[in-house]
Amino acid sequence: MREGLTNSWYRALHIPDVDVIIDDQELRFMKVVSQSNRSPAYTIWNPGSEFSLCDCTWSSLGNLCKHVIKVGIFCRNRQLARPSFAAQMYHFFMYYRMLNL
Ligand SMILES: [Zn+2]
Repeated sequence: MREGLTNSWYRALHIPDVDVIIDDQELRFMKVVSQSNRSPAYTIWNPGSEFSLCDCTWSSLGNLCKHVIKVGIFCRNRQLARPSFAAQMYHFFMYYRMLNL
């Protein structure tokens, strides 16, 4: 588990910001272009919260995938999270700090 999470985090850092696509102005979801074959893009719901869900295989297995992490970092850096997400974001990143990632 720890291995997988560290790996996801590491790989998320290698996804460029240009590969994060904001289709929805309400920020209910974002998309991340696949790094392996450039398509299709994965959809991440509730971006920037710990309740983020991605439609990739890794995420559907109950894992925290690199797309969710990437979108979380992206939201925090650009302060895109909606006010209601702010508290969730805080817990989200405190969680990773707790794991020393
Ligand atoms: Zn994913």
